[in-house]
Amino acid sequence: MLRRNLMQMAMGGGLASLVTPREAAAQTTVARAVRGLPSPKIKDIQVIATAPGGVRLVVVKVITDQDGLYGYGCGTFTQRADLVVDAVTRYLKPLLVGRPADRIDDTWQLCYNSSYWRNGPVLNNALSGVDQALWDIKGRQAGMPVYQLLGGKCREAADCYAHASGAEFSQVIDNAKEFIGQGFRHVRVQVGVPGMAAYGTTRPDATTAKALHNDPVYEPAVYIRRALKLFEECRKHLGDEIELIHDVHERVTPSQAVQFCKDVEKFKLFYFEDPLSPEDIAYFRNIRQQCATPIAMGELFNSPHEWTPLIADRLIDFIRVHVSQAGGLTPCRKIATMAEAFGVKTAWHGPGDVSPIGHACNIALSVAAWNFGILESTPFSEHHHEVFQGCPVLKDGYFYANEAPGWGIEVDEKAAAKYPFGYGETGDRQKYNGGWGAVRRRDGTIIKQ
Ligand SMILES: [Mg+2]
Repeated sequence: MLRRNLMQMAMGGGLASLVTPREAAAQTTVARAVRGLPSPKIKDIQVIATAPGGVRLVVVKVITDQDGLYGYGCGTFTQRADLVVDAVTRYLKPLLVGRPADRIDDTWQLCYNSSYWRNGPVLNNALSGVDQALWDIKGRQAGMPVYQLLGGKCREAADCYAHASGAEFSQVIDNAKEFIGQGFRHVRVQVGVPGMAAYGTTRPDATTAKALHNDPVYEPAVYIRRALKLFEECRKHLGDEIELIHDVHERVTPSQAVQFCKDVEKFKLFYFEDPLSPEDIAYFRNIRQQCATPIAMGELFNSPHEWTPLIADRLIDFIRVHVSQAGGLTPCRKIATMAEAFGVKTAWHGPGDVSPIGHACNIALSVAAWNFGILESTPFSEHHHEVFQGCPVLKDGYFYANEAPGWGIEVDEKAAAKYPFGYGETGDRQKYNGGWGAVRRRDGTIIKQ
């Protein structure tokens, strides 16, 4: 009682000298925590275009009118990166400067509807850059990592898979063993096809197949036979305990996909990725009716029209949306919540064409959602660490969220400028400003990539 009276008197100012420095500091902390935070306004929006790993990354920086309060978001669409830069600076910036930085969903809806025609990859990535930056700002304001704003952790870290690939089966298996040795429990396996192009790996003889043109050659049936043999070899040499993943990358016909899903069922994959292209998603029902192979899909999706029916009809097991392609954290946390209601797990797309900011967003979504399935991991290079200070840590096959406020990442813009778009590029990507060239069947027909 005496202590309370003394505190009341002290707070009233009558006995200030009786408050110890420790008590005064505690009162200041409490006062700061409980007062209404002033609403920051968006003062400027800038784009950091950089390619520290030889892949074009687009990072949006939203600056507020409060000193030192800003945030970063990933808007990487590496094949059309310049267009995202323009979409941010010429359209979103004039729309948003002067508006509150703390109304994230409202801002997302404003940007989404502003173009009238929506759900395209360029505009969605631009929107994601702003959206993720606003979450970063809110985290910095609150003094919390973003996963805390989503409700806190459901798990300690995000279990990841690594990419084991090679020209020959033995190389894939050796690579997989190396990852298993590093602690990974899940490995994606991809093997080269003699004489042809293949997804996820290459071979010295990849251009030797006889064809009626000079572009890389890809024959779906040849690839399917090669992949089935790979899974057999992997189970023989890696055993049954390792979880295997494979990415078809939508390169086969719908009927081939149905047969392929049935044929891989016996290898008990963790999941089979993109057996169908977005244009052919109606065939998932056929696959579901004929086998129990777990299906992952979604990295090419831009629109709720694509993922909503697949989740609601329980036609896939893992939703694999590329977060910036869908418009950022705001729509993707809603996807995760919807997926939970239908027993679908998350497996956010996390290749090298996602910036470390985007990976941090993937991790926040992964640790904070109960229905997490797996996360794709990509190791960061020395140059990535130079530009993005505070990159998420990958250890024993787990990605860990940074515990600093927001994404916990600072971008060194001087270092970023050392790696402009085009850095490290060769061949078609250099020739086509980061875009891809054609892959064709022997007769010259272009295939989906
Ligand atoms: Mg994929």
